[in-house]
Amino acid sequence: LFRSAGQTIRLSGSIGVAIGGPGASAGSLLRDADAAMYRAKERGKARWEIFDDELRDATQRRLEIETALHTALERGEFLVEYQPIVDLTADRIEGLEALVRWRHPERGVVPPSDFVDLAEETGIIGAIGEFVLGEACRQIGAWMADGTVDSRFSVSVNLSARQFEDEHIVDIVRSAIADAAIEPHQLCIEVTEGTLMANGSAVVLERLHDLGVRVAIDDFGTGYSSMTYLHRLTVDTLKIDQAFVAGMCDDRLDRTIVELLLRLGDSLGLQVVAEGVDSSKKLALLKELGCPWAQGFLIAKPMRVNDATRWLRQQAALAASIVSTT
Ligand code: C2E
Ligand code: MG
Ligand code: MG
Repeated sequence: LFRSAGQTIRLSGSIGVAIGGPGASAGSLLRDADAAMYRAKERGKARWEIFDDELRDATQRRLEIETALHTALERGEFLVEYQPIVDLTADRIEGLEALVRWRHPERGVVPPSDFVDLAEETGIIGAIGEFVLGEACRQIGAWMADGTVDSRFSVSVNLSARQFEDEHIVDIVRSAIADAAIEPHQLCIEVTEGTLMANGSAVVLERLHDLGVRVAIDDFGTGYSSMTYLHRLTVDTLKIDQAFVAGMCDDRLDRTIVELLLRLGDSLGLQVVAEGVDSSKKLALLKELGCPWAQGFLIAKPMRVNDATRWLRQQAALAASIVSTT
């Protein structure tokens, strides 16, 4: 504790300790001490930690996955699947959400839940995210070019906190749109509440908005956004977290939350998407409650490009036949 310019300042430190055996180099000791210091920070700061076997294993595992993710990127093992989002009020397809998968040579298709967090920690999410963004925009462009969809159609891309806090993302988004020759409003960026509340996010949000890109709050209701803040944010869409939709037919609290979020969206002039719609019972209740947009396994599962193309054309043919018979 010391005083400076009339202020009392408290300083503390986090210490990492590495013990060197025979053959340890200065570089490896510093690296191990660094890992131990980060664990000290994770465990509440102002303390010390020793680099032990447990930390050695964890560091090793991380290093392996990080290397594997880099290799996967080089070998083109990431792919994008697309899941439809439909407009329940107009019975039309609003767009698709792009969801990344890792086609692992031995493990098969690895879901994002198994690698996105690690990719974010190690920073490689930037490169993976740029791939997904480019791929998704390019695909929409291709579907427009061959007449599968029109310019009202949009694609939603998930961005992690780390990507969203970096102002560079605005240039990446701008060139993805330009390269694919699509309209900015055809791209929707999905971020979670936590991401939006983080420092630096407001600037990026504003600049994306100026570009004309839409922004959705993903998994809404599970984070802690303050309602006053929400009012000031320039977002376009709320996505009601699957957990509330899952319980809404049997649990009164879940149903009340869904109703509240629908009303909140309505009064703030935001679109609302119900996620995880996997039964006709849920779909019927959502329609009854006036939910504008929905996404879920009942409507369609995430699909590879070929299946998504077939699905989109089938829906278009179906809509045309309904129009011609009425
Ligand atoms: P999310 O953005 O909330 O995406 C919706 C997830 O719910 C997807 O899981 C989708 O397959 C799943 N889902 C859709 N409908 C249903 C349903 O009716 N029932 C159930 N049980 N699940 C349904 P997925 O593809 O495994 O993705 C999980 C999460 O990984 C995503 O959640 C998103 O947070 C993250 N993610 C996916 N792709 C990317 C990406 O390109 N970048 C980043 N940063 N994160 C991504
Ligand atoms: Mg999402
Ligand atoms: Mg979600």
